[in-house]
Amino acid sequence: MKEVDTPAPRTGQVAIIGRPNVGKSTLINALVGYKVSIVSPKAQTTRHRILGISTRDEGQIVYVDTPGLHQDGKRAMNRYMNRAARGALVDVQLVALVIEAGQWREEDERAYAAARESGVPCVLVINKVDRIKDKAALLPFIATATAEREFAAVFPVSAEKGVGLQDLERGLLKLLPEGEPQHEADEVTDRSERFIVTELIREQLMRQLGDELPYSGTVALDLWEEDERILRIAATIWVEREGQKAIVVGAGGSRIRAIGTSARLAIEAQLERKVFLQLWCKVRSDWSDDEAALKRFGYTE
Ligand code: GDP
Ligand code: MG
Repeated sequence: MKEVDTPAPRTGQVAIIGRPNVGKSTLINALVGYKVSIVSPKAQTTRHRILGISTRDEGQIVYVDTPGLHQDGKRAMNRYMNRAARGALVDVQLVALVIEAGQWREEDERAYAAARESGVPCVLVINKVDRIKDKAALLPFIATATAEREFAAVFPVSAEKGVGLQDLERGLLKLLPEGEPQHEADEVTDRSERFIVTELIREQLMRQLGDELPYSGTVALDLWEEDERILRIAATIWVEREGQKAIVVGAGGSRIRAIGTSARLAIEAQLERKVFLQLWCKVRSDWSDDEAALKRFGYTE
């Protein structure tokens, strides 16, 4: 008896690239349906190459989240992020260049050039369409953005509102080669729970502090202890100067308490477990330009 033909599954890796703040991490989280990568309105929020895996009946897509490329390659941290960003274009079958609806800046052009240089087919994802009040303005914008540039497809989306994501996913699957899934269906990322927890704490650091601390803070776990009742975590926020520590701690410890409370709630929601979180802030001068300190704080490929 002849079996019913189901199309062969499609699989592959898709690098998500674009200038800081266009919504790359938000997009990956929405596509994967799990927060694999932290989000904030600040540049430098994503520092690592992080995989987000989405498995559907039609196939499996492995999204590669990336820090943006940094012009200043002097500090060890920037070199680390640049390696992570460049590494993202290796071994991928597709590149998705993310831009913001209504804007094409110099930095978008540079990201596009990097995609072209890689020789990998590139699609254009126009994010934040929810911000465009007059939807009719989108068509001429798409026309100019794609004129004289080469894209395999164009997808207007809102990662935050969940608009256009199904079409995007279907479109990407169509462009990927046939192949068997490489990851289990319930696997959503290559990163450990512990990594995600330190990132959720750092997310609050990015969100709750002004521009005082974009590059200078990082988070390291000191304790991870669980029983049936509760998960106990202790972590240190490392900064580079006493003045930064004073900002993180705040008057009478108010700031670090607020960071701790929000981070604990985010960790509890993500891990679906009751959490006790203790946070400290310590100074290690110039850790972000110190290769040994970077390694110790988890900035290793
Ligand atoms: P990345 O630096 O490219 O990874 O950007 P993020 O994912 O960290 O997002 C940067 C900022 O844009 C955050 O404040 C997000 O909440 C916001 N953002 C992301 N996607 C959308 C969207 O579809 N619409 C709107 N209005 N904001 C978005
Ligand atoms: Mg990001």
